Amino acid sequence: MPGARADGSIPDAAERGRARSILNRLKRRYPEIRTALDYENPWQLLVATVMSAQTTDENVNRVTPRLFARYPTPWDLAEARQEEVEEIIFSTGFYRQKARSIIELSQDLVARYDGEVPRDLEEMTTLRGVGRKTASVVLAEMWGDPAIAVDTHVKRVANRLGLTSSDDPTKIEFDLRALFPKKEWAGISMRVIQFGRDVCDARRPLCGECELFEFCIWPGRYDRAGRVPPSS
Ligand code: SF4
Repeated sequence: MPGARADGSIPDAAERGRARSILNRLKRRYPEIRTALDYENPWQLLVATVMSAQTTDENVNRVTPRLFARYPTPWDLAEARQEEVEEIIFSTGFYRQKARSIIELSQDLVARYDGEVPRDLEEMTTLRGVGRKTASVVLAEMWGDPAIAVDTHVKRVANRLGLTSSDDPTKIEFDLRALFPKKEWAGISMRVIQFGRDVCDARRPLCGECELFEFCIWPGRYDRAGRVPPSS
């Protein structure tokens, strides 16, 4: 039984079928997809995901070897001097805020979870500096658990494809949950994010070569594809 969208409505069979067709095409484009972040355990993935805000995964991968060599466990990072962490992660940007977040989330993990990342969305989001997006990335990537992370790419692409009409990340998450079977949730975000990077760019979407053109409701798609809209 499908769940409800953020506004309480239930998608009908046609809407769910349309969503499935979109996902099938994305699966064809990206049969296997994983995060590009390097990590060896859930805590490292959580820390790396927090640091990936506003920068590329490659930039994060450049600093994490030194970070995790200096602080191999949550206990080590929980006791770190913030200035020292800032110096290591400086090149990822927003380094003060990120250093504070990864120290504080490690302190919370040590104090309340014996250093283990809880495998639960609501519990993970009680850690300081960890929001639904970060927690969903970790759950889906680490364990393949049903979770949908909504970032700026998911927000844009889902709206252009008519999968949601909301701007609010949590509402978008619930709209997508309602449209797709639970067993597919873990594989949605990474594919949509990569599609947003590769094809459906914010400013220069490649509508002319987009395999989802027929599903797209974004008015600018015809100009970008050089096509003439059907007369209404
Ligand atoms: S047609 Fe253009 S705007 Fe629509 S989903 Fe494809 S790339 Fe994005």
